[in-house]
Amino acid sequence: MSARAIFFDRDGTLNRDHAFTYQIKDLEIIENVVPALQKLKSDYDFFIVTNQSGVKRGLFSLEEAEKFTSALLEELKKSKIDFKKFYICPHHPNENCECRKPKAKFLLEASKEFQIDLKSSWVIGDRGSDIELAKRAGTSSILVLTGVNFSSLQEIKSLGSDYIAADLLEAANFIEAEKTISKIISRDQISKVIQQERSKGRKIVTLNGSFDLLHEGHQKILAEAKAQGDILLVALNSDASIQTYKSPDRPLNSENSRLRRMSAFSEVDYVTLFSETTPLDLLEDIRPDVHVNGSEYGENCIEAPLVKKYGGRIHIVKLVEGRSTSALLQSKIHKK
Ligand SMILES: [Mg+2]
Ligand SMILES: [Zn+2]
Repeated sequence: MSARAIFFDRDGTLNRDHAFTYQIKDLEIIENVVPALQKLKSDYDFFIVTNQSGVKRGLFSLEEAEKFTSALLEELKKSKIDFKKFYICPHHPNENCECRKPKAKFLLEASKEFQIDLKSSWVIGDRGSDIELAKRAGTSSILVLTGVNFSSLQEIKSLGSDYIAADLLEAANFIEAEKTISKIISRDQISKVIQQERSKGRKIVTLNGSFDLLHEGHQKILAEAKAQGDILLVALNSDASIQTYKSPDRPLNSENSRLRRMSAFSEVDYVTLFSETTPLDLLEDIRPDVHVNGSEYGENCIEAPLVKKYGGRIHIVKLVEGRSTSALLQSKIHKK
């Protein structure tokens, strides 16, 4: 039991969901799926597990469902991405069969046939049934927001996935972060670690925020921050502090998940958590050479006097985060 696997849902995760998708003309691989799979393929065996009740409903045949899935895999093969096997449940939800997700039959089968260690494997999908499948099979799980819509943020959170990702590439980055978790430093240790960096003559840059549901804009902010010095420390607001200053529905991702994901950025050298509503105590400890902040606060942000007192400066970046994350979430809810 040594191999690790990722069990992908099909519609809304790998290809666009056209509601009972089976015609080859509707085969549309979702943006970022190919780079995501390329990132993960050397570490994991890939499988597809899909519910296709359209078969039992008489909308299409099992052969058509298989043909469509094979066409998807052929398309991915062109980018040197291989799947071990795909599993299709053709039954109607009312039949109470043994193979329809969230039932774990197919994962247990795959585990036996391919010596998969489920505990170190993942399920990635766009629905609650995918996340429930993961729980039943004992894998970790990621919800991708590329498929179905939800009625509220609370509904998305309540599914209880290990991570919520805007798309499959974000999901891949989260999984890959197992290699970079040593960048996560506790609040108690961080001053000492930064002091050591400073003693080597390195210029320290700080940045703080919630970094909840990530998108490309975040990478740009981190790159600009990193360019201001040698060592970039990102301080994440704790869950409790975000609930206080943002909204009780946020964050979508827990502080531990956010720390892990943040560590995967090559621009980030260290990541820590702080529980106050402002980063002032942390900045007092770190005394950064440059503190990076969003343009909505500007040069006169509350951190400015403290940073300048110790000879540092404030660097302003245009933050599009709030707006884009909200827009992204807006598109996923209230449209059921
Ligand atoms: Mg799906
Ligand atoms: Zn079934």
